[in-house]
Amino acid sequence: MYEAAGRISQNVSGTEGFQEQKAGGLVYYTIPAFTQTGLVRHGFSSRLGGVSSGECSSLNLSFHRKDSPENVRENFRLFCSALDIRPEQMVFTHQVHKNRVMAVDETHEGMGWDKASEIRETDGLVTNRSGLALVTFYADCVPLFFLDPVRHVIGLSQAGWRGTASNIARQTLEAMGEHYGTQPGDCLAAIGPSIGSCCFEVDGPVAEAFAAACPDRKEEIIRPRGKDKYDIDLWAVNRYQLQECGVPGENITLAALCTGCNVDVFFSHRREKGRTGSLAALLMLI
Ligand SMILES: [Zn+2]
Repeated sequence: MYEAAGRISQNVSGTEGFQEQKAGGLVYYTIPAFTQTGLVRHGFSSRLGGVSSGECSSLNLSFHRKDSPENVRENFRLFCSALDIRPEQMVFTHQVHKNRVMAVDETHEGMGWDKASEIRETDGLVTNRSGLALVTFYADCVPLFFLDPVRHVIGLSQAGWRGTASNIARQTLEAMGEHYGTQPGDCLAAIGPSIGSCCFEVDGPVAEAFAAACPDRKEEIIRPRGKDKYDIDLWAVNRYQLQECGVPGENITLAALCTGCNVDVFFSHRREKGRTGSLAALLMLI
């Protein structure tokens, strides 16, 4: 049984964490610093308040799980309604756990939702268009939210372990800069609910990929746990990469919510051994 706000929040970051929101039976999370700008509508879903059953119970937001398209459509309608976004405004990524980021505009509106998509092998989206809702998908991977309140640009990326090791945070900021002139120093960023170091144990080769990606921070992000097993702190790696690009530390909000520790609230690929649904992040300039 899900209990109300506060139980799973661990505001370890110094920044304020994500804010739990409720709309009917729906529970989702928002970023206070993003809300305060008045520039965006946004949210990160939980698994609560949808119409799906079984392993996708109940707010599954992927057409690629063991769920009917009708259920997924209804779940999106519920989530979009809570966020005051029309479903037709959405544009979906086509995620492959790499680090490609694409700029999208009104010609991409509805792709993945009610229009065939030409977006391929893309784990991050950026735009400066109002009314275009970027959508990315999760079940443990790290959601990265970006908002440049100076030039009115947003970005949304999925940082899986491969995306994190290949620095999708930097790729996203560079795409925002290249296409729209964003300076990282102006940006707000947020690291959403995802697998914490408490639940992300890996073997030697994966640990080595992170040691190579963050040579100066190895001790902070990789903790040995038994024979050739290591815990990786994906949140710390992503925060470090954002700061290395020039995003001020005080501009970064960390949810500090572990999907693996909280399968009553979130879908977790690891904890549920792949038999699970999908969460989604939505971000739209007003
Ligand atoms: Zn955990």
